[in-house]
Amino acid sequence: MNVFLKPQFFRDDILANLLLPRTGWRGRSYVVVFPTKYCPVACKHCYFASSMPGRNDEGGSLGAADIERVKQFVFDADTELLQITGGGEPLLQMQSVLELIGQGRARRMLLNTSGLFASSPARAADTIERIFSAFAANPYCGKFIFRLSVDEFHLETVKPAKLLNVVSHFRRNFQRYEAANFTLKLHTLAGDRAVEWLLQPLADEVLRLEPTEVVFHDGTACAIGHAPRMMSQARPDLFNLEETRHALDVFDEVRDPTPGAFIDDNLDLGLCFLIHEDGDVELWNTAPADNVANVRSHDFAAVRHSVLGDVIQLGALDHTAPYIEALVAEVDPLSLRRAKSIGSATFLNRRMFAEARLRLYVSLRVIQDYLADGSLGQAQLEQLQADTRAALRLPGEQLRRLYRESGFDIVEQQLNQPDPSPSELIDLYQRLKLGHFDVAPTAMVERVRGATTLREQVRRDFLAMLG
Ligand code: SF4
Repeated sequence: MNVFLKPQFFRDDILANLLLPRTGWRGRSYVVVFPTKYCPVACKHCYFASSMPGRNDEGGSLGAADIERVKQFVFDADTELLQITGGGEPLLQMQSVLELIGQGRARRMLLNTSGLFASSPARAADTIERIFSAFAANPYCGKFIFRLSVDEFHLETVKPAKLLNVVSHFRRNFQRYEAANFTLKLHTLAGDRAVEWLLQPLADEVLRLEPTEVVFHDGTACAIGHAPRMMSQARPDLFNLEETRHALDVFDEVRDPTPGAFIDDNLDLGLCFLIHEDGDVELWNTAPADNVANVRSHDFAAVRHSVLGDVIQLGALDHTAPYIEALVAEVDPLSLRRAKSIGSATFLNRRMFAEARLRLYVSLRVIQDYLADGSLGQAQLEQLQADTRAALRLPGEQLRRLYRESGFDIVEQQLNQPDPSPSELIDLYQRLKLGHFDVAPTAMVERVRGATTLREQVRRDFLAMLG
């Protein structure tokens, strides 16, 4: 049969029944935790679209029980570097952050903040001292970087006075903090002059300002880091060819080709995990949409087993992300364009692999390559469905023909979901209008009208919402 007619069924077959060795990648881990998705600053450019509406909704922040699991995950993962970050603003969840800092078994830690908390010198001092005390009480962690976002956007939204309160507090406590390996780093963007502007009121005190460091006459100093300036937008218009081209160029220039891999201080290869505010845990920018674990139900061993048992993620680890992207481009360059145009590497694969048909195609192609280079043998395919094994024997051109002939697209996928909601259908319709998938919006409306799988009320609500 044509496996692309039931793509998720055969992709699930591969996830469950392909016998992968799951060896390697045993170095220490890099774990990134997002305590909350909320942030009152609500920057227009925030690619996490963080804001405050619905703050009390379940799933928007890690709860106390989640933090216990995160700590266990950090311990089991033999974590070298723990990063506590956003968006949102991690310090909205102060108690969770203090617990992670005080009890997380990681050798190094990094906290990212907008500095919003520092509304007065006293507030800045109180918050930073509580964080310092938690770090100082942690016997496992030997180094802490307090990373303050200082870029043109944040100068406008958070305001310079708050950021200066943070800088001044660190300078006042410079020797005590330095002795404990607790340091401030200003985090800015390539080509951004915000650090220079921020420090203007202190101009008489600055001895030298360099791209990577500011040193003051009194001997205090702090490092400056630069992140690439990406063009983030949650819903790019892919019909705007000039903007799309520019976004793709920037993405390709600055992106990390090995996002899920981490080289630890022993130069061993480990893995880099993201733990989101809803508990989802995945390999950094590598997990496709259908294979994301959750700390509430998966411990570190289960997550590792799942990551190294997924040929899409394993292929990216073994051969880098561009290898996977080249396979995507064989059948669906639009998915690649859509994912990259969003301008954030976070969730790249989730966005790129929105379609089950594409996930199956790339899985099959990666297995074919592993068979060809001897990394996999026929014995490891024995538990797969006969149709999956038959597809693996097909040459690439024939596989691509079956892919095209299946006609299974994103609309088909959405209509086959158990009880899709009208807002999910509207969301897809709007994405079609932006050129995110190769289906005309009018064709989707016709298919919704004729879909036998859809509840009548859902169809009516969808059509009503269209106006
Ligand atoms: S301060 Fe940071 S997390 Fe908050 S909205 Fe702005 S960019 Fe997003």
